[in-house]
Amino acid sequence: MAVDPLIELRGVNKYYGELHVLQDIDLTVARGEVVVVIGPSGSGKSTLCRVVNRLETIQSGTIRVDGRPLPEEGKALAGLRAEVGMVFQSFNLFAHKTVLQNVSLAQMKVRGRKREEADHRSRELLDRVGLSSQAAKLPAQLSGGQQQRVAIARALAMDPKVLLFDEPTSALDPEMINEVLEVMRRLARDGMTMVVVSHEMGFARSAANRVVFMSEGRVVEDRTPEDFFTRPESERARDFLSKIL
Ligand code: ADP
Ligand code: MG
Repeated sequence: MAVDPLIELRGVNKYYGELHVLQDIDLTVARGEVVVVIGPSGSGKSTLCRVVNRLETIQSGTIRVDGRPLPEEGKALAGLRAEVGMVFQSFNLFAHKTVLQNVSLAQMKVRGRKREEADHRSRELLDRVGLSSQAAKLPAQLSGGQQQRVAIARALAMDPKVLLFDEPTSALDPEMINEVLEVMRRLARDGMTMVVVSHEMGFARSAANRVVFMSEGRVVEDRTPEDFFTRPESERARDFLSKIL
């Protein structure tokens, strides 16, 4: 069991109408840990990310981030979303803002930084994701891999305690996947706590401390990558792995 839990879900249940999309989820992510979540389409992986960020509400159970229950609304909720950064498949950059503005905006709005301070931080982070020369461009002038690295810089700019990645490379052309995974590997090495929904098994093997396998709204396996990939316990995981490996 985790020594220093940053995210804790206990008995979490979520329904969409009749559909029981998260079923009695217990999950702990320790500070500094990298957890890769895999599972078939529709198994609840995205919903799991969304409830931790309170983009979706739950019907029962508790979720704590850094020891505190999730806030209901208002300023505290904006604070939570800054602490729990999220990177989506679809980048979600502002199309009419420059790369630099995309990374700076929320810093000013949510973190209350002055433009100069925000831009300074943005340039540091753009440098960290290998995009310092692209600051003045618009998102459409960048490749998909570059846009996703901007989205990562933007999430980092809020000084999050944890980053959630929901299939961050699924929308990318194959030749761009690695540049994004490389940035993520570096973050992991630097100690960032990360929950990564991804079917990139190479990344899971090399960067994850744990693999969580979901099926039909449940956590079916929660183990080291070594154990999971060499000795999956459940029929569902074996079946899933046989299809993707
Ligand atoms: P995954 O990310 O593993 O593919 P999701 O968490 O996106 O799974 O979805 C889990 C289930 O919940 C699916 O059956 C999906 O159709 C359903 N679902 C997701 N979002 C909604 C929603 N906003 N309203 C109703 N059903 C939804
Ligand atoms: Mg999904």
